[in-house]
Amino acid sequence: MSYELSEILISEEEIKKRVMELGRQISKDYAGKELIIVGVLKGAVIFLSDLVRNIDSSVKVKIDFLAVSSYGASTKTSGIVRIIKDIDTDIKGCEVLIVEDIMDTGLTLSYLSRIMMEREPRGLKICVLLDKPERHQSEVNIDYCGFTIPDEFVVGYGLDYAGLWRNLPSIYVVRPSI
Ligand code: 5GP
Repeated sequence: MSYELSEILISEEEIKKRVMELGRQISKDYAGKELIIVGVLKGAVIFLSDLVRNIDSSVKVKIDFLAVSSYGASTKTSGIVRIIKDIDTDIKGCEVLIVEDIMDTGLTLSYLSRIMMEREPRGLKICVLLDKPERHQSEVNIDYCGFTIPDEFVVGYGLDYAGLWRNLPSIYVVRPSI
């Protein structure tokens, strides 16, 4: 089945405004502290790069990345998650913020937070650009959320379908092409 872009769900302007607000909130919450921001490749790259530039100099920010793979059909997650690229940073005793593109079933974030907690950070919080509450299977506490969205498959602003459309500045719904 092939997919095509349907309507814009969240515009570039709306994203920019919300990312600025999230950056301000994170700056307030971590002022005077060091914060290790862990981005989940590849979907969170665009969001993370805008987010960190909205965190002010009161926070000492470090950035690292990890990559996970989940098996299954391409628009649905299978729930089997494994780390295929780990962070290089020792997070023991540190404040950590995981930055992810989207919480769908929550299985990825629940796995990642469990793995990260085993490494004994001082604090662990989660920031997602998008949240699809209708799809949750695993309850994970989200500390910072950009937008709550309906159960639609979306692309753009870092999110892909089959590796494509990450470069789009807005977030689009994709639908099967007839
Ligand atoms: P979860 O483990 O929460 O079900 O899924 C998380 C991952 O599934 C996300 O990091 C993302 O890669 C993928 N995913 C879930 N929903 C969407 C969506 O609407 N669009 C895209 N592009 N990826 C999604």
